[in-house]
Amino acid sequence: MKKPVSIKTRITLWYTTLMFVLVLVVLFLIGGLSYQLSIDSVEKDVILQVTQVKEKLSKRQPGVFEIVESKEEFKNVSIYEPNGKYIVGQYNYDIVNIPFEEGIPRRESIDGKDYIIYDTRTPGPPGMRGGFWIRGVESVNSTMLLGRSAIIIMLIIIPLILLLTALGGYYITKKAFNPVNNIVKTANDISAQKDISKRIGIAPDAKEDELHHLSVTLNKMLDKIENLIKQEKQFTSDASHELRTPISVILAQGEYLLDIAKGEKEKELAQAIVDKANQVSKLISRLLLLARIDQNRQKFNKEKVDLGVIVDVAIESMKESAAQKEILLFSNVPEGTIADADESLLLSAITNLISNGIKYGKESGRVLVSASKLGDRTEIIVADNGMGIPEEHIDKIWTRFYRVDDVRNDEYSSGLGLSMVKSIIELHGGTVAAKSEFGKGTEFRIVI
Ligand code: ADP
Repeated sequence: MKKPVSIKTRITLWYTTLMFVLVLVVLFLIGGLSYQLSIDSVEKDVILQVTQVKEKLSKRQPGVFEIVESKEEFKNVSIYEPNGKYIVGQYNYDIVNIPFEEGIPRRESIDGKDYIIYDTRTPGPPGMRGGFWIRGVESVNSTMLLGRSAIIIMLIIIPLILLLTALGGYYITKKAFNPVNNIVKTANDISAQKDISKRIGIAPDAKEDELHHLSVTLNKMLDKIENLIKQEKQFTSDASHELRTPISVILAQGEYLLDIAKGEKEKELAQAIVDKANQVSKLISRLLLLARIDQNRQKFNKEKVDLGVIVDVAIESMKESAAQKEILLFSNVPEGTIADADESLLLSAITNLISNGIKYGKESGRVLVSASKLGDRTEIIVADNGMGIPEEHIDKIWTRFYRVDDVRNDEYSSGLGLSMVKSIIELHGGTVAAKSEFGKGTEFRIVI
């Protein structure tokens, strides 16, 4: 897999490379220009020296040869006889064989060295036939011409500029991307802790840039979602409250009807009313419990409870329905297995799991409930050899009102049992997980 490269690094790399290319281009332009300017000035210099010597010679001033020999200002000039024989001035072995050319400054390259050469002819003093050739020569050393400062810029300032660009750029992008880290952290916190009240931290002095706006917008969206969830919880809570009394009345009246019913048909109808009322009443109790836990209103009495006793009570309460499917219920809890828990809530969670083991168990199957200590934690396992849960459903069974399929679910299943178990166990700061093999059985493991 490719190693991920952060946006910060990519941006920094991009403009550092761009900066590098830019600096190189600018340097080459400046270098080329200054080289050309230097050549021009060398040419001018040589022409000037040659012209001055020519003037002096043409005015027949005496001592011109001495001047050329001794004066610093004519150090690049030499004088030759018309046949090219050297007389006086700068003697340069390299250029001595280059033919003379009247009045044209030119660049000659000899053995890797560059020279500017300028020749001119002068009649010379009277009596001298053919006159003289005057030659000006100056060597052109490009490194020298570019100048020391250019070299210093290349060797020291460029790496320094690039380093500063990279560091400064990285620092600025890192700071600019801080809100993104905050957004990711908040999103992770919300999904890990299931706490929708968390918000993206925004520093009071934060700059109002695009990411700041994004954080503010996301916070507003989280406010809305939190409100909606609160409203939904409140609705569930209110609706279940409102339904509790009427359903109790229906149940009581149904039971009364069942008592006084004479004929078979009446009895059957009254029984149907009682069954359905019981089912709805159970559903309402579960919804109320879930709503109370959601809104942190559930009374929670943590005390030392004996798991042997709780498991026995749970099994006892489920014996009758187990017997109807000839399912055997076993318990395996070592004596003195004590846990810190709310007795009635834990009893209700374990009973629920046993009830599922029976509901989704095979005829003549079994359900085993075991408990043991894991250091200072307690492990409770409810395992059956029933129909099992297909793999693709296993993560969804904890969702409220989720049922695997309609075929396996009888009319008494609501899809709320496991979400209630999960809420109860999480209220204890514990975890509950399911392991299942389709067709072979299911195991629920609680750790509190
Ligand atoms: P329900 O009231 O439908 O039983 P639950 O929340 O208890 O709701 O269970 C959700 C779904 O998970 C059920 O519909 C059932 O299909 C599946 N399920 C739960 N426990 C078991 C089990 N022990 N064996 C097989 N399937 C199970």
